Amino acid sequence: MRKALVAGNWKMHGRIEQNQLLVETLVAQLTDLADAIDIVICPPLVYLDQVGKMLNPDVIQLGAQDVSRFGQDGAHTGDCSAAMLADLGVRYVLVGHSERRSDYAENDQCIATKLAQVLSVGLTPILCVGEILEQREAQQVEQVIASQLIEALEGLDSHAVSSLVLAYEPVWAIGTGKTATPEQAQAVHAFIRETLASRYGQPLADRMIILYGGSVKAANAEQLFGQADIDGGLIGGAALVSEEFTAICRAA
Ligand code: 13P
Repeated sequence: MRKALVAGNWKMHGRIEQNQLLVETLVAQLTDLADAIDIVICPPLVYLDQVGKMLNPDVIQLGAQDVSRFGQDGAHTGDCSAAMLADLGVRYVLVGHSERRSDYAENDQCIATKLAQVLSVGLTPILCVGEILEQREAQQVEQVIASQLIEALEGLDSHAVSSLVLAYEPVWAIGTGKTATPEQAQAVHAFIRETLASRYGQPLADRMIILYGGSVKAANAEQLFGQADIDGGLIGGAALVSEEFTAICRAA
């Protein structure tokens, strides 16, 4: 039985005062879910310390939105290493989010390097994959997802792979209000699990947590999370609204 996980990706949103209000509310509202599901909040880098200090890690854990591909301290202006994130109490790190892929041209090789950095300090990467609209319309979804997965996981042994969380985020559904239907999402999640099974064996594939992300809200969460291979969500806009995020967590 897989334990559901809901992660809130705040992206580039937040201010000290509003973070405090949001996190205080969430910690109070979600305490009773502590044993039932895993909940993660990924604030912007500059607010990790503030938010981390307010969280009760038995209820909500701290996540980061990105990490440097460099592992050693050094001359990498603007970067933050996996070791620094671990030092601050971060437990999960998003890797390969479509906005990093498009804004910073992060390719699969860069993503593989970042995965290795996160794993090397004992944190859990949340590896994001997803197709753009043109690829879906050209019937290339499976090809794109398989290639993103295989390239990113290149070089990892099955023990390392088993410690990842995966997130399927169709790019056309992110921030657009256009959610994948539960059936569309389920089909890709099943494909991801089959791809993992064929490479690393069915028992490992059956244990992997695969999240869905892309315009998840309270109104559609239950249907999405009701699908056999959808183990929770990676939430953007709705993670900034306490009632929405709480309802999504309750649906998981
Ligand atoms: P939205 O929920 O705003 O569509 O964002 C999804 C996402 O990209 C989470 O990482």
